Amino acid sequence: MSIVEINNLTVHYPDVKALDDVSFVVNEGDFLGIIGPNGAGKSTLFDCMLRLNTKYKGIIKFFGKDIRDSKNYLKGIGYVPQKPIFEKNFPVTVNDVVQMGLRNESDKEKIDEILQQLWIHELRNRRIGELSGGQQQRVFIAKALVHDPKILILDEPVAGIDQQSIELFYSILRELNSKQKITIIWSSHDLDAVNKLANHVACLNRTLFFHGESEKFFSDDKLVKQYSEASMQEHMHHH
Ligand code: ADP
Repeated sequence: MSIVEINNLTVHYPDVKALDDVSFVVNEGDFLGIIGPNGAGKSTLFDCMLRLNTKYKGIIKFFGKDIRDSKNYLKGIGYVPQKPIFEKNFPVTVNDVVQMGLRNESDKEKIDEILQQLWIHELRNRRIGELSGGQQQRVFIAKALVHDPKILILDEPVAGIDQQSIELFYSILRELNSKQKITIIWSSHDLDAVNKLANHVACLNRTLFFHGESEKFFSDDKLVKQYSEASMQEHMHHH
């Protein structure tokens, strides 16, 4: 069953067309990796999906409903943004951050369970700014999970994080998808990681270069090469 539908999504900024007629569907239980070079429109796509950008053409549906009609669907979504940066002494603890994810009064057991699942239980009274990048990232996943989302959306979440934390992060994502049946939409630069984790791939570069089963993409050397060359050119163009 389709849980997200993107139909003919086009976004113009004053100087650039960031997305051009992008359409794809995400089914319940999918683990979708969105790959694309810098400037490919990944953040723009997420902004539209989260109603942070409403100046788009096309139709976006979550749970079968046009998101322009109601923002109720946001209750079913957990969003993990690109890594925020905190001052070392920013006076907010891990516990505080995770509680912000709850809409009603705090549910301590729920928080405990999630902190344990994400290996940050021991850190719960520490200040967020004292933690490593990987630990902070897990805190923000915890925050996104406390209201039991059906869909988790993650924007380029491993930038600047050490390899060990990245591996832990990937194993957590895999578990959330396979055991808790959370649908995952995840943007990444890391083709190898997408190959290992995702069951569907969307290659974005303003237009959708490919969308389909991960296996179909990665087993087609020509397609991967073509895509890598196209995105490398785009990368050079931007630098
Ligand atoms: P990605 O997340 O894949 O790096 P973005 O969605 O951030 O891509 O950017 C896509 C294109 O749109 C880029 O050319 C970028 O410079 C441009 N862009 C992004 N946000 C804005 C904005 N708020 N105003 C104008 N141009 C933007």
